[in-house]
Amino acid sequence: MLLAKGIQTAEDLLYHLPFRYEDRQNPRSLDELVPGETASVIAEVRGSALLRTRRMPIFELTVGQGNRALKCIWFNGTYLQGKFLAGQTVAVYGKVEPSRTTSNLKMIQPQFEVLPDASDDAETRLLEVGRITPVYESLGGARLASRWQRKTIFNLLEALRGTVPECLPRDLLARLCLPDRETALREVHFPPEGTPFAQLQSWAAPSHRRLIFEELFFLELGLELKRRRMRERPGIAFSLGDKEREAIREVLPFHPTRAQKRALGEIVGDMRAASPMRRLLQGDVGSGKTIVALQAMLVAMENGYQAALMAPTEILATQHFLAARKLLEKSSRNPRIVLLTGSLDEDRKRRTRSLINRGEAQLVIGTHALIEEKVEFDRLGLVVVDEQHRFGVLQRFKLMKKPNQAEPDVLVMTATPIPRTLALTLYGDLEVSVLDELPPGRTPIVTRRVEGEKAPEVWEFIRKQAAQGRQAYIVYPVIEGTKDDQPELDFSRDDAGGGINVEPGLQSQVSKSRPGPPKSVRKGKTAELFPKAAQEASPGAKSGLKSAVEMYEELRTGPLSSLRVGLLHGRLDADEKEIIMRRFQRGEIDVLVATTVIEVGVDVPNATVMVVEHAERFGLAQLHQLRGRVGRGAAKSYCVLITGPKVSEQGEERLNAMVRTQDGFELAELDLTLRGPGEFFGTRQAGLPDFRVANLVRDRKLLELAKQEAAQFATAPDAAVTEAERARVWAQLKDSWQRRYGLVEAG
Ligand code: ADP
Ligand code: MG
Repeated sequence: MLLAKGIQTAEDLLYHLPFRYEDRQNPRSLDELVPGETASVIAEVRGSALLRTRRMPIFELTVGQGNRALKCIWFNGTYLQGKFLAGQTVAVYGKVEPSRTTSNLKMIQPQFEVLPDASDDAETRLLEVGRITPVYESLGGARLASRWQRKTIFNLLEALRGTVPECLPRDLLARLCLPDRETALREVHFPPEGTPFAQLQSWAAPSHRRLIFEELFFLELGLELKRRRMRERPGIAFSLGDKEREAIREVLPFHPTRAQKRALGEIVGDMRAASPMRRLLQGDVGSGKTIVALQAMLVAMENGYQAALMAPTEILATQHFLAARKLLEKSSRNPRIVLLTGSLDEDRKRRTRSLINRGEAQLVIGTHALIEEKVEFDRLGLVVVDEQHRFGVLQRFKLMKKPNQAEPDVLVMTATPIPRTLALTLYGDLEVSVLDELPPGRTPIVTRRVEGEKAPEVWEFIRKQAAQGRQAYIVYPVIEGTKDDQPELDFSRDDAGGGINVEPGLQSQVSKSRPGPPKSVRKGKTAELFPKAAQEASPGAKSGLKSAVEMYEELRTGPLSSLRVGLLHGRLDADEKEIIMRRFQRGEIDVLVATTVIEVGVDVPNATVMVVEHAERFGLAQLHQLRGRVGRGAAKSYCVLITGPKVSEQGEERLNAMVRTQDGFELAELDLTLRGPGEFFGTRQAGLPDFRVANLVRDRKLLELAKQEAAQFATAPDAAVTEAERARVWAQLKDSWQRRYGLVEAG
């Protein structure tokens, strides 16, 4: 059981921290309780009963203090029968609710603990009454619940007294006012009298801070070392001179923004260095990442190397291919550009592969097929990965170069704007450049939220925009079908679409672009894709979900029959997708009914209206990406979020945020808070560890600090740090990385 919870050693147990505390020194009086608050109360058992209602057995416990009483209710509470005896003292913890029948208050399904009395042993009493008591998540059933952990950890700490080795330099701890390791471990489990309770509950007591810092410090130190190692590997030193500048000048269609210039400067700086570049280019939708990447690719080509651009879908790869071809028409160099995607026929693939292999293609644009089709480049100099494809991809670039050749430079682009330190942590071994400025001349997008009944007015608005020559998107959460809802899988992600995790299996699905994933995959994903939806929708309401295919029929024969309507979703085959996309780009389609296939990257500046139906079902990052499809030209643009009948609290927050702001950073921050770092980042796929004590959102300040300190330590540890302390830090790093993260061999 312990193993299943990741507890293998005594150390693991010590780092299994209480998830909350109960202040049993100053217990709350029932008189002070206010409905709505979550509180912990110590009271006396007055009576209990098991009520057999028609629907389920309900266990009722009445506890009291003086003449005040509190009723506690557990559904299906048969298992609680006989657990409580009148006169016992219990601690209950839960949300306080008003009671309908009496002036008394009640708690539904509270957590509870029967407190020890005089008949219990002294140790139990010492640990559980009259103090701030730690409450633990159970490590397995009642046997390994809080009481067991308190005792075991207490005894462990006693046995270890004075012997817990310090792993951080004394000087560092003193400077940051953090307690030593043993003190921190003791006090985090058994807070000394007088520790401010609020500090404890928010994981901000000195003992918490010390342990969180420790975890983040070793993470950051490991990442720092990884980056250093990369810098020591042999790469290509590109040169940037007049020739390269001229090649860029020839084709650049506009003045780059300051942010674009800065980012390109950083990228080219890396490219000129003799070690392989591993850089992340982060910029909100529409900030102009593509052109920055293209300039870097021109530098590589001008140096006699090949450049590759990898996009997450065929639609995007094709769009990049067409755009690059158009742009490079102006080039006097006439580079040869090829497109390689999974859906090409074998013959085309073979010919394209051979062009790449013989070095006749200078610029190669494609999907994951570039890796899957075992393409071997003649002289690969730079790989650009657009959006989405992130993790587990970096290592595989090895496959693309010929043996005995230098490592190519790699630039990863992402539209998920997250704070720099987080990005550096999340993307581990990448350096980060940020585009924090939009190209000039953009007008803000007007965002409105409307109820489903108002849809006819939205269609009317689209007709008016079309009459002015504008185009529109209408997006649905599923492709088709009411019985078994198939969510769009092209950009598979969880509900709120942090946009970070694409499962490897699904990626290849995308690039191979089969009509759709096997039924089993689809079934399995549905719940994950729409967890909120699953909670919100009553069983019958599910069939009320509108789908792209059905609405396409309805709109094109009904309210939009005067317009040219197209349909785009992930189950069309690649050729069909490409044809539809091109027709939309050329303005031969007025309204594109689609799923989230159009979410990322699609660039049609004449489109001015983005309508999202069932907007409450989409995640913030997804909505933001979708909205980013409009407002790309000079004309005023609109985003209309149509909601279904039921919107959850979090759904409300997401929609309000969308109406309130267009700032991707702000939205990402909110998304992060709403969903928590685990879901937002999909830590497992990101290759990030599950933290034992740290939380990347809550502990952002400490992360910043840990990163600074780790960088400083790796560069030049303070003179005050002794040789022995240094050795201990390295030993600990090696141990923690190997045992917990398993990412690198540190040391
Ligand atoms: P994203 O960062 O979302 O990938 P794109 O690279 O697709 O953004 O650029 C968005 C749009 O802005 C494109 O139409 C592009 O041509 C245009 N653009 C990019 N940089 C500039 C610039 N400096 N000035 C004017 N337009 C620009
Ligand atoms: Mg882009």
